[in-house]
Amino acid sequence: MKILDGKKTAGEIVRNLKLKIAGLKRKKIFPKLVIILVGDDQASLSYIKAKVNAAKEAGIISELITYKPSEITTEKLINRINSLNNDKSVNGILVQVPLPEHIYAPEVFKAINPYKDVDGFTAYNLGKTFLNSEFEELAPCTPLGIIRLLEAYKIKITGREAVVVGASNLVGKPMTIMLINRRATVTDCHSKTKDLGRHTRNADILIVAVGKEKLITAGMVKKGAVIVDVGSNRNKLGKIVGDVDYAGVAKKASFMTPVPGGVGPMTVACLMENVYKATLKQIDKGML
Ligand code: NAP
Repeated sequence: MKILDGKKTAGEIVRNLKLKIAGLKRKKIFPKLVIILVGDDQASLSYIKAKVNAAKEAGIISELITYKPSEITTEKLINRINSLNNDKSVNGILVQVPLPEHIYAPEVFKAINPYKDVDGFTAYNLGKTFLNSEFEELAPCTPLGIIRLLEAYKIKITGREAVVVGASNLVGKPMTIMLINRRATVTDCHSKTKDLGRHTRNADILIVAVGKEKLITAGMVKKGAVIVDVGSNRNKLGKIVGDVDYAGVAKKASFMTPVPGGVGPMTVACLMENVYKATLKQIDKGML
């Protein structure tokens, strides 16, 4: 079994990006990412730390705006996003999820200018992702990171059986679409799927994004399958683990992502690339 090393691949992406960003800086354009956090969720804070560090490495300016849940409403958040939309020094806007229940997330995402939507969560960017791989401009960072990782290891997607477990708007569904765009034959499973193993055992490429430790065991995997574990769960010992029973499944897989060090760093690297792509788009549209 070979490890799909997301940390190493992400490092290469960020180093290449640094050169491109340096080119923009010579033209007096300084890409900037603004991250909005509501609350102090510990997992969100650690994801943000990784994003801020990657931005620093790539030469992207980052700013973190934080709100206490009690001081912010959907309307106030949208007003703040509108002012960031109109601020020429800001090239990427990211609202960290999850948002507290009193904030209506769909309206918040809708407020982000699609050209600054570096998470790729607006209907505009998801719609473009739906069309074809050529239209995937600001695609959601986690599925994009997975595609980039498979490409880095020269794993063929076209014509293969791919199974995605998880059907969220942020990971599972766009992942399914992006695999179809590359002409895999895709099955998407979710909480109402009957006999999950019957589907996962067909997978040449199995992508699991649920958030349940050891959901996928060795008996649910075909020999030689490529396994991508998106899950991020804290186990009883306080360790971060994925959704796949690593020790058992590793004996059958041909390639496998570790957790941590697999999909997580690729997501962050693709976010940085999206800030660069968004900046180019804004130049093209005469917004800068
Ligand atoms: P989510 O919004 O909670 O979605 C979970 C999905 O799993 C849903 O579609 C749900 O089905 C499905 N599901 C739940 N129980 C299932 C079961 N027993 N069998 C099959 N499917 C089941 O979560 P998410 O945002 O997609 O994230 C999923 C996991 O990935 C989490 O652990 C998250 O922390 C992690 N994550 C990691 C990264 C990274 O960069 N490493 C990025 C994003 C997310 P229904 O739709 O029917 O409810």
